[in-house]
Amino acid sequence: MPPPKLPTKHIRLPLQFRERENADRALDYLMRTLEAHRGITQVDVDLEHATLALTYDPRVFGLEQVRKMAQRIGIEFARKFRRGSFRLGGMGLRSFAQALERHLLDEDAITSVTVNPGSSRVTVEYEDGRTDLGRIEQRVAELGYAVRPEERLEPWLKRYLELALALACGGFALLGFALGQLGAAPAWSTISFVLAYIAGAWEAAPESYHSLRRGTVDIHTLMLAAAAGAAGLGHWGEGSTLLFLFALSGALEQLALQRTSRALSDLVALKPSDAWRVENGEELAVLAETLQIGDRIRIKPGERVPADGQIVEGHSALDLSALTGESTPVEVVPGGEVFAGALNHHGALLVRVTKQASDNTLARIIELVQQAQAGRAPTQRIIDRFGSVYAATVLSLTLLAVLVPWLLGLGDLRAIVYRAMTLLVVASPCALVISTPASILSAIANGARRGILFKGGVYLETAATVRAIAFDKTGTLTRGRIRVTDVVPAEGIERDELLRLTGGAERNSEHPMARAVAEAAKRRGLELPEPQDFMALPGRGLRARVDGRAVLVGNQLLLREHGRTLPAALEQRHRELTSAGNSVVAVADDRVLGLIAFADEIRPEARAVLQALRELGVEHTVMLTGDQPEIARAVAEQVGVDEWHAGLLPEHKVERLRELRQRFGRVGMVGDGVNDAPALTASDLGVAMGVAGADVSLETADLVLMSDHLEQLVTALRLSRRARRTVIQNLALSVAIISVLIAGALLGAVNLPLGVVGHEGNTLLVVANGLRLLRGD
Ligand code: ADP
Ligand code: MG
Repeated sequence: MPPPKLPTKHIRLPLQFRERENADRALDYLMRTLEAHRGITQVDVDLEHATLALTYDPRVFGLEQVRKMAQRIGIEFARKFRRGSFRLGGMGLRSFAQALERHLLDEDAITSVTVNPGSSRVTVEYEDGRTDLGRIEQRVAELGYAVRPEERLEPWLKRYLELALALACGGFALLGFALGQLGAAPAWSTISFVLAYIAGAWEAAPESYHSLRRGTVDIHTLMLAAAAGAAGLGHWGEGSTLLFLFALSGALEQLALQRTSRALSDLVALKPSDAWRVENGEELAVLAETLQIGDRIRIKPGERVPADGQIVEGHSALDLSALTGESTPVEVVPGGEVFAGALNHHGALLVRVTKQASDNTLARIIELVQQAQAGRAPTQRIIDRFGSVYAATVLSLTLLAVLVPWLLGLGDLRAIVYRAMTLLVVASPCALVISTPASILSAIANGARRGILFKGGVYLETAATVRAIAFDKTGTLTRGRIRVTDVVPAEGIERDELLRLTGGAERNSEHPMARAVAEAAKRRGLELPEPQDFMALPGRGLRARVDGRAVLVGNQLLLREHGRTLPAALEQRHRELTSAGNSVVAVADDRVLGLIAFADEIRPEARAVLQALRELGVEHTVMLTGDQPEIARAVAEQVGVDEWHAGLLPEHKVERLRELRQRFGRVGMVGDGVNDAPALTASDLGVAMGVAGADVSLETADLVLMSDHLEQLVTALRLSRRARRTVIQNLALSVAIISVLIAGALLGAVNLPLGVVGHEGNTLLVVANGLRLLRGD
């Protein structure tokens, strides 16, 4: 039987260009990013009608991340998308999620859906204005699923209810046995067993009812049927044992998997609820959600930072450990950035808010981890896909196991039915279904606690198998702690004026050079003007309107493209600075206004990290950079990459990656995610570094390393390899145990209680094995 066809979705998006003249190039950049993106099967652009048509797999791809990226290069989507998620009850770990995905995707306004049976979480992306989360939840309820309130609303009693019921079931079963042994009237022991049945079926019955209403048979139904059958045959004790063990392992699984969402609740706990807003010199206590961009807030020593912002006044050290996993506090000074969730050490700070609460780094990390846990790994998808086939097979097998011996007259019907029921229990795929999510969720949680964010199980699996890794230079192999070394004004402009204009133009840029310019300007005590019409020109530089002048900042290519030439004097300085190992950019309006030279520092750990990657099985390392070859060579030699390429535009980086993929199969790319979006998406595993790095990196990367340490890449790869080993172990173990039990049941060597013990034991074993990934690296 061929697996069911993957759902795809088709969407046409009207576009708007901020600047007509750059539309071609911006669109080309966007197209390359999209074409290379996993989950997109077709991209068509129509420049004339300004539309973008996409065909994509809505379980892999979301549109809002693309919208945000497009915005930076001057393309606006006419529509806005939102993401939201909710939890399901009555689905549990043990049923398959495809039907729900399909139903939701039939709706036009829903652009992306992932359902994860592991965390019982459904994540949807939908078009803002056309529908909302409430309506989607209502639709889900109509389809016969129960939407559950969020976890934090669940009191501990409820959390342990399942366990209590399981234990009650076990207690009554024991009592029933004891009464039978002690020779009480049979009615008494039957009453006790009936109570055991009620407690044992309390959770399973509604779940089974839900799935029957949807026209599917799930594992709960199978178990209840087996228990009912056992009772019918008079095997009350065995039926109770079955229900007890089933309920117990269900409760334990649930409690265990809740631990995997703890990394998330830890993050949620960091969300500060209130802030001191400074207004006319007075401090007002306000809710953190109500802070607006541009508000000034006071952060006192020992308090958590309530919003992302820029320091206006004050010095302190910030503890970012909860966000990045990095324990050393970071010194901050005026002009520096702060992030919501960080802990302020000793100094009071005055901060200008730069992000709305719903948009700040912490909020996005929380969303990201939530989504990551919602997405399913490929192994899991395979199991999902064959799950229904498997369930049908088991049912038919059971039926055959009754019919064949009965028609052949082999033994009495009661014995035959009993054996078939044992078969039904042992052949249920519980362990198979749970083995992968238990491992993946644990590994994702483990990573998240140390600031290593896998965007989903898929990437955990990819990370374990990449054979080559490409690195961006700036900010990746080098510190990205770039300093301005020289400011060379052209004839007729002051040094400070040049720096002020450049700093203004760079204000909205996320390139590491931008920060360096801002710092240099601050050292000279310059007040930077607010830029207008900022536009990033990836691989070249940027343009912006400052003080009414159209300013260009960038490399030689940018100058050539705009028909500006360096005057002879600057040409000479450019050569000198470059050969001394500096990256040099030019600043121009109608004419070239001057040069700014930068120096960067190679990360001291880079060499060791590359070596460690080799030891982990990464065969080949490559450096790809847009910088000049002179500088690229020096860096490449010092860190010891196997191959390097310089002077690359983003599209060239994509080509290089394509070529690497041909040579090596799976290829990772580590970059900053801003100007490398196409390269990150063109790789099999896009890795972005540094929480302070950039806005877009969180959206475009598959793996985000929150701290600014390259070693985290090694930790991430090691974790992914461990997770992969565990998944394989779990699958092998489950298949082996299930096969042995099936054979035993068919031969009559395994009776119902033994079958139940084997089956549930197997399930708990793989969960426990998966949970080991919560610890260690
Ligand atoms: P890298 O591979 O080193 O990260 P990028 O693609 O980020 O290279 O940038 C390539 C070149 O484009 C830089 O070396 C610089 O000359 C220019 N450039 C990019 N962004 C900026 C910016 N914000 N300000 C000035 N120059 C920039
Ligand atoms: Mg870069």
